[in-house]
Amino acid sequence: MTQTQMVLATHNAKKLSELRRLVDLAGLGVVVLGLADLPCYPEPAETATTFEANALIKARAAVEATGMIALADDSGLAVDRLNGMPGVRSARWAGPGASDADNNDLLLRQLDDVAEPDRTARFVCAMAMVSPDGIEVVRHGVVDGRLLRSPRGENGFGYDPLFVAQGCELTTAELDPADKDAISHRGRAVRAILVDLNAWMTTADNGSTPP
Ligand code: IMP
Repeated sequence: MTQTQMVLATHNAKKLSELRRLVDLAGLGVVVLGLADLPCYPEPAETATTFEANALIKARAAVEATGMIALADDSGLAVDRLNGMPGVRSARWAGPGASDADNNDLLLRQLDDVAEPDRTARFVCAMAMVSPDGIEVVRHGVVDGRLLRSPRGENGFGYDPLFVAQGCELTTAELDPADKDAISHRGRAVRAILVDLNAWMTTADNGSTPP
């Protein structure tokens, strides 16, 4: 039996591992490829102002280039005291090419005078699925929490060392990967979209073929 191949339109190895763990857990028998596993194609700029629209831009481009069913997430951190920013600019908050450490440093400086009860934030994820036969679905996931004053933990990526989810003591960078998946914005969005993926796979003749 040919296994379905699916592309996750990302170069972020951490996002890819998160998706692979969740797909394996769901037992769908799908092989997940990242952009590093595929021939290069011109990637579109993420020009939209919403997570949902940016996720769709990335997933549509991946389907067009590969012919495989594609998932793409657009995600970020929304900080209440910054009116929901960095939001869709999370990856480049400290400027183009900024590292995770640069972004975290800038965020800490911006929140320097914000006291504990007001250091609230949430991670948001929009996960788009686009199939070669034109099905488009977007699912969302959110996790509420608060921001520390200094980083803690080595797991995860991005703002994880600063973020403590509601009901937790550890940052998402201190959690075991499976524990992060259980509560994270991406875990929630992926679990929702895997239902759509399963439905798509069970309709006739929908095995994606390799490029
Ligand atoms: P994207 O790749 O354009 O979706 O940018 C996502 C950015 O949001 C990342 O580079 C991180 O800065 C931040 N982000 C998204 N998800 C997470 C997460 O699970 N942990 C920490 N930071 C995240």
